[in-house]
Amino acid sequence: MSQFSRRDFLKVGAAAAGAVGAGGLGFDLARANTVKQTLKIADAKELHSICPYCAVGCSLVAYTRQGADGKTKLLQVEGDPSSPVNEGRLCPKGASAMQLATSSRRVGKPLYRAPGSSKWEEKDWNFVLDKIAQNFKASRDRTFVGSDAGGNVVNRTEGVAFAGGAAFSSEEGYFATKVMRTLGVVHLEQQARV
Ligand code: SF4
Repeated sequence: MSQFSRRDFLKVGAAAAGAVGAGGLGFDLARANTVKQTLKIADAKELHSICPYCAVGCSLVAYTRQGADGKTKLLQVEGDPSSPVNEGRLCPKGASAMQLATSSRRVGKPLYRAPGSSKWEEKDWNFVLDKIAQNFKASRDRTFVGSDAGGNVVNRTEGVAFAGGAAFSSEEGYFATKVMRTLGVVHLEQQARV
């Protein structure tokens, strides 16, 4: 009678488990290969980038393909599994990075709502930048505090607050913080922890 070694037992066990996994759980290798070939990123160009949203610096993979019209189309953006920083994972904000390029809901022009109005109007950048500068200066002049009750020099602008959106990159957050502090603004909040 032949000996049935521990190694043979493990081989049979692994084969049985594979059979159950492939058949019993409905795994179909041929179908999996077909799905792989029909993925929207099949044969796409793979480009590596960094998420712009915060200083964690998660790596991204962007897949692009050139269309018949010669234009490059962005197909997919996802976490880079080869990155030691995020190992393929992204937080919800990073996972939406593709929307930066493709969302039809992105506002393409500055919108302005005049005091008392219920309507937004499209304006050019010169108009809104001038408006921001004028309003900022008026508020700063009106609320600037040179020294506190104890006679300490504080030079702060109490009538202006700054809120940076979650779409701020680390660099934008750093720049905005520098500008606001220079102008004496002390009420600052934004996603980038600068
Ligand atoms: S925003 Fe999220 S995905 Fe982007 S770098 Fe920071 S942690 Fe990573």
